[in-house]
Amino acid sequence: MPLTEFELISRYFDRPVRRDDVALGIGDDAALLRPPPGRELALSTDTLIAGVHFRDDFPPRDIGHRALAVNLSDLAAMGAEPAWAILALTLPAADEQWLDGFSTGFFELADAHHVALVGGNTARGPLNITLAVAGFVPVGMALRRDGARAGDAIYVSGTLGDAGYALENWRTADAATRQRLLRPLPRLALGMALRGVASGAIDISDGFAADLGHILERSRAGARVAVERLPLSPVLHKLDRSVAWRLALSSGDDYELCFTVPPAREGDLSAISARCGCALTRVGEITAGGGLQLLAADGAAITLERAGHRHF
Ligand code: ADP
Ligand code: MG
Repeated sequence: MPLTEFELISRYFDRPVRRDDVALGIGDDAALLRPPPGRELALSTDTLIAGVHFRDDFPPRDIGHRALAVNLSDLAAMGAEPAWAILALTLPAADEQWLDGFSTGFFELADAHHVALVGGNTARGPLNITLAVAGFVPVGMALRRDGARAGDAIYVSGTLGDAGYALENWRTADAATRQRLLRPLPRLALGMALRGVASGAIDISDGFAADLGHILERSRAGARVAVERLPLSPVLHKLDRSVAWRLALSSGDDYELCFTVPPAREGDLSAISARCGCALTRVGEITAGGGLQLLAADGAAITLERAGHRHF
C-alpha cells in the first residue's frame, strides 16, 4: 500500500518541536509562531531541482542536508540566528527509502542548529524541494549587501572552488572535496559573529566574482581583488593556476561568506576566526568605483569568461 500524504507527513516530517517560540507546528492550516521582541525576522526561500541543483545520483540523505544548508546559508549571510523552516516538497512518488534518507539528512542539520520544521506542503510531480527559513537579528544589526564603503577590506571564509571542482571531477575527487558539494556547512556562527563588524556580506552560492559583484552593485562601489590571495584547499593548490583560479572565482556552491570590513574593525577578525573555527582571508579592498578588478600577482588584469552560475 503506498503511503497517503498524511501518513507521509506524520512518518517523516512531524517531529516533536523543542522550541518554545513555536505555539503550533505541523498539523493545522498554519503554524503559530512567536517572534522575540526587539528582533527583526530574516525570511528567505530557495528551491532545489533535481538535475539543476544536485545530481540525480546524490544520496537522499545528502539532498536533505543540502536543501536545508543552502537555505540556512542565506540566514548566515544576514547574520541571523536560524529558528524555523517550512518545506514544500513535490515528489514523483512516495518512495519510502528516499523519504527516510532525505528526512534523516534534513533533521540532522536542523537539530544541529535548533531549527524547527513548522509546516509545509506535499504534492506529486517532478522532484522539487522548496524551503523557507526564518531567523532573528537584533533590530538594525543584519549584514546587508548595501553597506560596503571604499577602503573596506574584502574577506572570504574557508576555501573557494572545492564544490565546483567536485562537480567537474566527480569520479576522481577525494571524499573531503565531494563533501563540500554534498554537504555544504552554512557559516551561521560566523555570520552572527560579524554583526557590528562587517559592513557588507553575501554567501557564495553562484561564484565569488558574481556574488561579490552583488555587494558592489548594491553598495554602488568597485573592488580590487588580488587573485593569488584567494584561499584554496590543498587539492586546488595542486592544479594549474588558471584552472584553480577559474574554479575559485566562478564556480558556485561553496556557501562560504564574502564580507567587507572597515579598517578599524579588521583587528576583531582573528578572534572571530578562532571562535568560529574557520579561516578568514583578506583578498582585496573596496574602491569608490571602477567595477570589479581582478589582478594577478604582477598587477596584470584577469578577465573572466563567465562570472558565475546563471539560470537564465
Ligand atoms: P492544507 O491543506 O491546510 O494546506 P495540508 O493538508 O497540506 O494542509 O498539510 C497538513 C499539515 O502538514 C500542515 O500543517 C502543513 O503545514 C504540514 N505539512 C504538509 N507537508 C509538509 C511537509 N513536507 N513538511 C512539513 N510539514 C508539512
Ligand atoms: Mg488548510
